[in-house]
Amino acid sequence: MAPGNRVLVLAEVMGGVIIPHSHEMFAAGMAIAEGLQVPLVLGLVGTDQDEALANIGTLDGSIETVTAVVDEGEMLPYEAWVDATSELVRSVDPHIVLASGTSFGNDYAPRMAARLGLPMASWVTSVTVDDQGLVVTRDVLGGRAETAIRCNSGTPFVISLEPGTIDPSPIGDIAAISLSDVFAELAPTSPGSQSTAHRKRLMGADRIVSGGRGMRSEEGVALIEELADVLDAAVGSSGAAVLMGLSPHETQVGSSGEVVRPKLYLAVGLSGTPQHTFGMRESQFIVAINKDPNAPIFQLADFGIVGDLFEIVPALIEALKKPA
Ligand SMILES: Cc1cc2nc3c(=O)[nH]c(=O)nc-3n(C[C@H](O)[C@H](O)[C@H](O)COP(=O)(O)OP(=O)(O)OC[C@H]3O[C@@H](n4cnc5c(N)ncnc54)[C@H](O)[C@@H]3O)c2cc1C
Repeated sequence: MAPGNRVLVLAEVMGGVIIPHSHEMFAAGMAIAEGLQVPLVLGLVGTDQDEALANIGTLDGSIETVTAVVDEGEMLPYEAWVDATSELVRSVDPHIVLASGTSFGNDYAPRMAARLGLPMASWVTSVTVDDQGLVVTRDVLGGRAETAIRCNSGTPFVISLEPGTIDPSPIGDIAAISLSDVFAELAPTSPGSQSTAHRKRLMGADRIVSGGRGMRSEEGVALIEELADVLDAAVGSSGAAVLMGLSPHETQVGSSGEVVRPKLYLAVGLSGTPQHTFGMRESQFIVAINKDPNAPIFQLADFGIVGDLFEIVPALIEALKKPA
C-alpha cells in the first residue's frame, strides 16, 4: 500500500458525541497536516455520526469529513472497529493515520494496522515535522526514557497518541474538552457536591452497581443509576466509562480508583480487565451482565447474564419493582 498525501484522524464517536481524546488527536492531526503541507481528513468512527456532525457545527472548509459506521452485529466491539477503520483507511489512502490511544483504541488500532500491513507507533507523546518529515516521540522504560521515531516508511504510518499529552483543538465550533478538563470538572468542589456524594456512597457500600463502556451514552448511565436506586446500591464505573466522560472519576473502581468489598457487586457492560477486577474481586457475590459470553468478568462472577444490557437492565428493574 503506497502512501497517499493526506493525514487521517480517526475520531471516536460514542452516542453522537466525539470523545474528549479525539480533540487531542485532532490537534495533533492539524499540526502534522500543516507541517507536511497536506490536507487533513477527519474520520468520524462509531455510532450516530449525523448527530456528532450536527454537534460540531462548522469545520474549516479545507477539512474533509468522512464517516464509518461501526455495526457490531454478532461481532465483538473491537472486531467491528477493525472492519470499519480498515475500510476507511483503504478508501482515504492517507500518509499518516492517527488512531485513538484510549484503552479501546489500543484494542482495535494495532489489529487494524496488522490487517493492513502498516507500521505503527503507539503511545506517542509528541509529534513534530522537520525537513525530512514526521518524527514522533514516545516514552520507554516506564517513562524513564524517550525514543524518537521517524515516520518515513514507504507505506502509510499509523500512530496512536497517549491520552492527555497533547493540548486539544476544538473540532468545529464545539469547545475542545481535554481529559484533564473532564477530571477537573468532575472533581469534588464542595463537601456537598454530587461527586463527593457518589464517593461516600461507594466506599463502604453493601451493594454496588457498576457500569462500563457498554453503557455507551446518557441513556445507559440512566439505566445503571435506576437499577442502583431500585437496589438501594451505590453507583460504580469502569475506567473506560470515566474516560468517555460518562461517569465521574470518583465512581471508578479498580487499581487507579476505589477498592471495594460489597456484599453484592453488579458489573454491567464492563469486560473485567485486571485494572478493574483489582478493585472489586473481593466482593462477596458478583453478578455480571455482558453481551459477550467470553468476557473475562464471567470468570469471576458468581452469576452471569449474557445479553444486551439495554434489554436486561429494564427487565430487571421492572421485576425488582414488582411487589413480592
Ligand atoms: C494505568 C491504568 C490504570 C487503569 N485503572 C483502571 C481502573 O482503576 N479501573 C478500571 O475499570 N479501568 C482502569 N483502567 C482501564 C482498563 O485498562 C480498561 O480500559 C477498562 O477497565 C475497560 O473498561 P470496560 O470494561 O468498561 O470497557 P471494555 O473493556 O471496552 O468492555 C466493555 C464491555 O461491555 C460489553 N458491552 C458492550 N455493549 C454492551 C451491551 N449493550 N450490553 C451488554 N454488554 C455490553 C462488551 O462486551 C465489553 O465486554 C486503567 C488503565 C490504565 C492504563
